[in-house]
Amino acid sequence: MLTIKIIFQLLFTLVFKRSKLPETIDKIDIQLTRKVSDEKRLKTVALLNKIFGTRVVRWVVEFFLCKASKGEFIEINNADFIKRYQRYIPETDERISWTNWASTQKSQPLQYLIPGNGPHIHVVDNYLKLADYDFEGLQTIQQLVKDAESKNLRIRCVASGHSLSDIAISGDFMVSTKKMTKPQRRANQAYIKEQYRNGHSAYIHKDGDVIEEKRYLFETGAGTLLEDLKQILEKEGFAFTNMGGSDVQGFMGAASTSTHGSGMNLKPFPDMIASMVLIGSNGKAYRLEPKNGITDPVLYLQSEEYKTYDIELIQDDDMFYSSTVSMGCFGIIFSVIIEVVDFYYLKEERTPSTWEAERQKIVALGLNYIRKNRHFELAVNPYPVNEKGELDKINGSRYCIVTTRNIIPKPTANQSKSPSEKRNFLSSLASGLYFVGSISVFLFNRKPESIPRSISSSLKRIVDCDKEGGGYSDKYYNVLNQGLLEMKFFGYASEIAFTMQDNTYLHAIDKILEESVRMAEKYGQYNPSPIAIRFTDDSHSYLSMMHNMAACSVEVVSLKGFIGGEDFQRRIEREMIAFNGRPHWGLHLESLSFDRIQKIYPKFPVWLEAYKKFNHTSVFNNSFTDRTGISAVLDKQAAFKE
Ligand SMILES: Cc1cc2nc3c(=O)[nH]c(=O)nc-3n(C[C@H](O)[C@H](O)[C@H](O)COP(=O)(O)OP(=O)(O)OC[C@H]3O[C@@H](n4cnc5c(N)ncnc54)[C@H](O)[C@@H]3O)c2cc1C
Repeated sequence: MLTIKIIFQLLFTLVFKRSKLPETIDKIDIQLTRKVSDEKRLKTVALLNKIFGTRVVRWVVEFFLCKASKGEFIEINNADFIKRYQRYIPETDERISWTNWASTQKSQPLQYLIPGNGPHIHVVDNYLKLADYDFEGLQTIQQLVKDAESKNLRIRCVASGHSLSDIAISGDFMVSTKKMTKPQRRANQAYIKEQYRNGHSAYIHKDGDVIEEKRYLFETGAGTLLEDLKQILEKEGFAFTNMGGSDVQGFMGAASTSTHGSGMNLKPFPDMIASMVLIGSNGKAYRLEPKNGITDPVLYLQSEEYKTYDIELIQDDDMFYSSTVSMGCFGIIFSVIIEVVDFYYLKEERTPSTWEAERQKIVALGLNYIRKNRHFELAVNPYPVNEKGELDKINGSRYCIVTTRNIIPKPTANQSKSPSEKRNFLSSLASGLYFVGSISVFLFNRKPESIPRSISSSLKRIVDCDKEGGGYSDKYYNVLNQGLLEMKFFGYASEIAFTMQDNTYLHAIDKILEESVRMAEKYGQYNPSPIAIRFTDDSHSYLSMMHNMAACSVEVVSLKGFIGGEDFQRRIEREMIAFNGRPHWGLHLESLSFDRIQKIYPKFPVWLEAYKKFNHTSVFNNSFTDRTGISAVLDKQAAFKE
């Protein structure tokens, strides 16, 4: 009945009231959000993907798209991406070809290894059986490191391979962390100080006040995927303090590049780590913690970890805060003890605004405006658009969505079903359909000048706030997940963090926006997505993009296959050097020089000392350490040059 009504509404508008089409689509969206359950939406997505996934339908659509294109070959098949995303290459003696998720990095390692005795699938269902520490897996890795050293080879691990940059690749031994999923347990071993064993208090600074928050310790294998770990934590009544827009990463893959979400009082992933076991040069294992860490050094001497397995405890701020963001350069991190919080629910609101209005509020109210909500982020159309939908520097404004999220009590069963608590139907439907990505790229390549208007329209689609009878409430991880679904296979991003002091971040954003318009006007080069602006509290980790500064991270997102997308991102990365921007370790394209790292990270010399200690045989170097000049710091570098 609803379907017939909607088809009728659409046809009627198309024939008699074409100019009212956007309003009609809005109305349809509201009806669908109200009437269609999440289960039905997912079923519709699956059905449509199935129909478009059949070869005949795909060929017909591709045939017409190719015909309509100016010599471009259009493929709407994303099976390749999905295969790579779900791929689990079993351990093999044969050479394999490895590519990262975005296909920007490739390598054919001499050996591809998957050490560890944890499962790589059904981890959540079986987590109660995974409580024991995997000492055998640890010893296997220790031996692999020694083997690599004895053969003068290099070794490096890869988690989910979602970094765009070359930080995870290795041409020699490549270690997948997929089976490093043990242990999974509350951390209350005998050597952990009494006050940390069953929950402890942490003190958080908020708006000039100090707030007490209950924290708990949980121990997990470093390769555990965030999507599994979030569910295991939930079963224990726990939650991550924050998450990024996706949960595809391995825990240590995410932490190693300082992956973050958005929230002025929330730190990035590496700051969740309280203790970790690292295997460094010569296969030597260390338990690393900050000074006065959670482990009692005297009790530790009695532990099996120390007595039988010779894992040396180091409690030192410089060593620890260097290792939490070390991009695989210090060795292989086998397990981590993380600080988590009580499970929580969030309510999200996506309110329409303009960048001009938001900028004014930020300047007038300062950080208090950003701090007002637990989570705050902006998605900004880089192009000023006038009422006619044209790029117009004089009369146009930059449409933007302000997303805020706050903790709420667990919604009742009725509230959860309420349409006003769900995400908008059409935007979540579109992000679930795999062919939407290819078709968008096709359309944008054909008519790039339509991009400014398209970005505003797609942002308008996701408006979802109390004022308009909307909003979205759910478990924290569902709300934090950007709902990218299939669209994540088409996007790639470059991100840079800026200090919030002296409004540097605002000047940097102004420059990005100005450059976007200049490139569009002068060369017809557009960027097909909004600019994402997120905020994070400072990080203790010496090489975190947020180290020692509350940061504003600006992400330029593009679509695979969009012409000029990578060049545009590289251009922005270069422009941002002047603002001392810190590129995301996993999301950058331009090369970083040794001098630049030194300039933007004051603690880099300390980090290098830790690098020299844990990687003194150079065995964990790779093309990333070579190109940045980090490898050269070690004497043995010359012998390893490829
Ligand atoms: C769809 C998508 C969404 C994203 N969303 C966000 C976001 O919201 N916020 C954000 O900040 N970033 C985001 N990113 C970037 C992403 O979080 C980082 O690039 C992250 O490092 C990728 O994790 P991974 O598990 O794929 O790690 P990989 O790319 O496999 O590895 C990253 C680095 O970690 C090292 N490493 C991995 N495991 C270990 C280990 N056990 N011991 C030692 N070193 C290790 C590797 O050697 C490598 O140097 C996103 C990326 C994608 C593709």
